[in-house]
Order: sequence, then structure tokens, then C-alpha cells
Amino acid sequence: LAKVPSDIEIARDQTPKPITKVAHEIGLRSSELEPYGDAKAKVSLSVLKRLAHRTNGKYIVVAGITPTPLGEGKSTTTIGLAQALGAHLGKPAFACVRQPSQGPTFGIKGGAAGGGYSQVIPMEEFNLHLTGDNHAVQAANNLLAAAIDTRMFHESTQKDAALFDRLCPKSKGVRTFAPIMFKRLKKLGIDKTNPDDLTDDEKARFARLDIDPETITWHRVTDTNDRFLREITVGHAATEKGQVRKTGYDICVASECMAVLALSRDLNDMKERLGRMVIGTSRRGEPVTADDLGVTGALAILMKDAIKPNLMQTLEGTPVFVHAGPFANIAHGNSSILADAVALKLAGIEEGEPVERTGYVITEAGFGADIGMEKFCNIKCRESGLVPDAVVLVATVRALKTHGGGPEVTPGKPLSEVYLEENLEILGAGCTNLEKHISNAKKFGLKVIVAINQFTTDTQAELELVAKKALEAGADAAVPTNHWALGGEGALELAKSVIEQLEGKSSEFKFLYDVKLPVEEKIETIAREMYGADGIEISELARSQIETYTRQGYGDLPICMAKTHLSLSHDPTLKGQPKGFKVPIRSVKLAAGARFLYPLCGAMQTMPGLSTRPGYYNMDLTEDGEIIGLS
Ligand code: ADP
Repeated sequence: LAKVPSDIEIARDQTPKPITKVAHEIGLRSSELEPYGDAKAKVSLSVLKRLAHRTNGKYIVVAGITPTPLGEGKSTTTIGLAQALGAHLGKPAFACVRQPSQGPTFGIKGGAAGGGYSQVIPMEEFNLHLTGDNHAVQAANNLLAAAIDTRMFHESTQKDAALFDRLCPKSKGVRTFAPIMFKRLKKLGIDKTNPDDLTDDEKARFARLDIDPETITWHRVTDTNDRFLREITVGHAATEKGQVRKTGYDICVASECMAVLALSRDLNDMKERLGRMVIGTSRRGEPVTADDLGVTGALAILMKDAIKPNLMQTLEGTPVFVHAGPFANIAHGNSSILADAVALKLAGIEEGEPVERTGYVITEAGFGADIGMEKFCNIKCRESGLVPDAVVLVATVRALKTHGGGPEVTPGKPLSEVYLEENLEILGAGCTNLEKHISNAKKFGLKVIVAINQFTTDTQAELELVAKKALEAGADAAVPTNHWALGGEGALELAKSVIEQLEGKSSEFKFLYDVKLPVEEKIETIAREMYGADGIEISELARSQIETYTRQGYGDLPICMAKTHLSLSHDPTLKGQPKGFKVPIRSVKLAAGARFLYPLCGAMQTMPGLSTRPGYYNMDLTEDGEIIGLS
């Protein structure tokens, strides 16, 4: 194989087409496009209405085996496959990927635009601020956080009547409720429209949210890996009059606002979801929401542009939607429903058009299929109503060798000999991990196509062994693919295999569990069926949280497990297909707006840290403003 230049060299070598041209090629009207410079644009959601009558394109999710910390090429494969289908086979083909978080970009991973000759360009814009969506999410999240502490402060320093007066001040002699306040009145069962008609008791109940500080689950967020913010105390200034409280920060991409962005079906749905977000419980035991705090409209304003998917392109000029970026281990790990929905319509066909014209939407689910794909199916597709047709399961010889007993792979350190030379024994043993992921995907009724992402060190015998093991484990197809070194041309076999597998077939997709089941049963189903666990061990804290959420009416939500991506189990050191373990559920959080319950397994952190030698050591900016070291 020829030597492949660095990701950034390849990306810089290609001049992107004007984004207006990409948009025109895929059938978008100029009125549906909001360009941000020449190489990226937001797409108006009105396109969904215009194309509502079309039959959707084929829907393929790219997931992976349990990866090493280096990543096994899901993004690269998503882009490579879309390039093969679009630029080489002439099919309408869209890649849908998440916007990277600044945390990993400056921490371990560098960029996430794919790699080699399968990338999204311009990669600097993709990897950094893009069109500001992550910043908008952060702003919304932190406005709500400010609203919580401020409200508690004002409630603690004012009597009921004064508080009510300030919440509903007289303007030109008339006292009115702000429209958002009617939601709170309804919740309290007060059927009055004139504030002056409320009794003193009603005024007090209305004005005093009476948040129990011990129950506040809402954290502030930043998009930097800043471990010293994991636990903080706020309110130390004299002006806060001793209202000191312990709280913490999460990484922005783990926030509920990010999940809401990714799971909303339209602007109104997003606003409703933002309003339903629960920040904690009142001393009366009721959930307190963003609606109660009166901040929903402002949150929606901050996120109104973020909801529009961002259009970019691959190195080969095919369209890519980049939208929303929830992490897969501590959030639901999938790009937005709206980006997929828009792409599926653009890839769809009109009535009477031959089915062969149907296009393909390749969307990526983060980390291993046990988390990214599971959440794609059980959360994202349940919310969207969109039905997937197939999973492309990315496997690498390298990761399979770690599962077969190869030494730990550590970012920044040279790979051991095992990974550089043929070793069929270790590789064969490691295929047990691939087998479990194949059987997991089959539980959703999906076609499974294993993409063996080829590295220069892989031997023919190794690639053949993985393909053989995959087929024996029930995969519908298994093909080596070389899009990293060759671009779309290298993924032609994979693309043809996808087309062949989906020809004339309708999806037999099904969910893994019924949301109506008790919460513990849903968690246990995921642990047993996806991770191969013997069961779960629920802490007392988690049990009491489940009881509270169930009592408050949130028991019917799907589950978003926060679990390590480095093992099928909760323990990152257990490789292969671990057996004989129970998954410890440390605590459970509620995301009422995003609509899921969120159990934390083992020692998961919602704010990553930086290593001694973070990625930023390699980065610089030249005198000419050129970025260096964004791998
Ligand atoms: P994932 O999406 O699974 O985390 P990525 O697609 O982001 O993985 O790839 C992780 C890194 O590995 C990127 O830097 C990419 O350039 C590199 N990479 C991916 N596939 C290959 C390959 N076949 N050969 C060499 N490097 C690869």
C-alpha cells in the first residue's frame, strides 16, 4: 500500500466545492440554504415539508466493535462508504455525523472528521466552531443553571407577597402573567388568568418553587476537558449572602440540551422538550422544570439556529450533514434526528419513480455497537419513528487483537509487535467480541454488514479470518474495505455489498424492550442482552432515584446507559466477550426533556480530564493563520 499523507495534509490538498453547488446537486433550493462562508451552510427545516410526500431513502447506521482508545474508523468508514456510493456508484448518498467536541479535539483524539482519503472538509472548520451549535447549547444550559441559583436566592431573601409582586409586576396599573407562567398555574391546578384573583395561598404556591438544593441535578457545562470543575462550590461572593452550594460541571456534549438538540423533531418539539427538562425536586416532592423557571423561551431563542442541520462535503464532494454531538458513553451518542430526516427525504424517491433511484443515508452511532447502536435503535429511532435498514459494523484487526489477549493500546505510545505482525491465534480469539456485536445487531432485526477497516499492517490471511468468523457468527456480509488509503474507490466492495443486502428488502426492525416495563427491568434487559451480563446491581441511591422518577411519572422513558466504551462490560479492562459479571448501577439521572433515564454504570465521569500530554501540545497557529497539528 502506498504511503498516505497526514489527515490534515490530505484535507488541505482538496479545494471544497462552493457549498451552494453541493446544495444544488442534492436538490436543495437556495431559499433553503443559509451559507456560513463558502464551505458550510445551515439547511432550513422547511425542506421537510416540501419533500414530505417522498418515500425515504435507505437508512444505514454505522456502528463498531468495542474499540481501542484510538478509535477503529467508524467516522472514516461512514465517509468512505458515502463517497463510494455517491461519487463512484452514482447513487444519492448522504453521510450524517456528529459535530466533534472540543474536549477530545484538544485532549486525546485530535479531530473527528474521518481520516486518510475519507474525510469531511474543511476539517479545521468541522473540528472547531463549525456554525456555533455547541456554543449555543452551552449558552442555553448555563442560562438555565443561572436561573436556578438566582431563583433560589430570591426566594430565600423575599417574603411570599413580595416575591409574587416581583414575578408579576404591575405595568401601567395592570398585573399580568407572562405566557410561560400559565404552564405553572396549570401544573398547580389554578384555573385563573388574572394574577389579582389568586388567593394568598395560591400566590405563595405559584411564586415559591421551593427547590430542594440537595436534589438539583442540573450542572453547568463547558466543552473543555476540565476535571477541576467536576465538583465545585458556588455562591462564595458576599453578595450571595451565604447561599453556598456544591455543584459541578459536565462536558457540554453530555448535557441534556445537547440531547434535546439531537432528538427534536421540529422547532416546537425542541421548545416543548426544553421546557420539560427537570432540574431537581421541590421540597413538596414535585419535579421542577425549565417551564417553572420561566426560561423556556430564552433557551429556545438561544438554540433556534442550532436546530438547523449543517451541510458540508466529503473529500470527493458528496454531501455530509454534521449536526449535534452527544458523546456515546455518557450521552446517547448519535447525530440529530433532523439531519437524518432531511437526508432521508433528499435521498428519497417520488411516487412512481423506480426504486433503483432510492438513495442512501449513512449515519454514525458512536463507540461500540453495545452503546451507540443500542441507543440509536432504542432511543433515537423510537423518538424519530424512522426505521433503519441495516447496520455496518466496523471491525479492525488491531482492536480484535486487543480482545484476543494483545497488550493494551495506549494513545501516543508505539504499538506492540502483536499489532504489526500477523498473529492469527490472538486475532481468532479476539473475534469473540465481533461475534457478540453481530448477535446484538441481529436482535434489532437489522441486516449486518461487517466492514473490516483495513490497516497497512493487516495481512490477507488476517482479513480473511475476520470475514470468515463474521459470517459464521451470522453477519449477512463481511468485506475488507480500504477507503482510508484509497477514498471511495477503496470502499466499493462494501458499498456494493450494502446495495445488494438492501435490494428489495423491507426492514424487520424491532426495539429491544418495551418502554412500559419497570425501569429496573429495562436496565437489566440491556445489561443481559447487549453486554452479556448476569444481571445488575442497583445501589440504594439508584433505587431511590428510580422510585422518585417513577412516582413523578417518568418511569416509561427509554434508557440511556452511561458505560465505558472500552469493554462490553462496565469494566474497561475486561476485553473480548466478558462473562460472569453484574453491571453496577451507581445512580440514575433523569432527562425529561430529551426523554430518557440515564443510569451511570461503575465509575463513569460526565466530565473527562486531560492527560499529562494532551493533544494541544502538537497544535499551533502560523503567522499566516494556518492551523498546525489538528491531526
Ligand atoms: P472512530 O469514528 O471509530 O472513533 P475514526 O474514523 O475517527 O474512528 O478514526 C480514528 C483515527 O484512526 C483517525 O485518525 C483516522 O485517520 C485513523 N484511521 C481510521 N481508519 C484507518 C485506517 N484504515 N488506517 C490507518 N488509520 C486509520
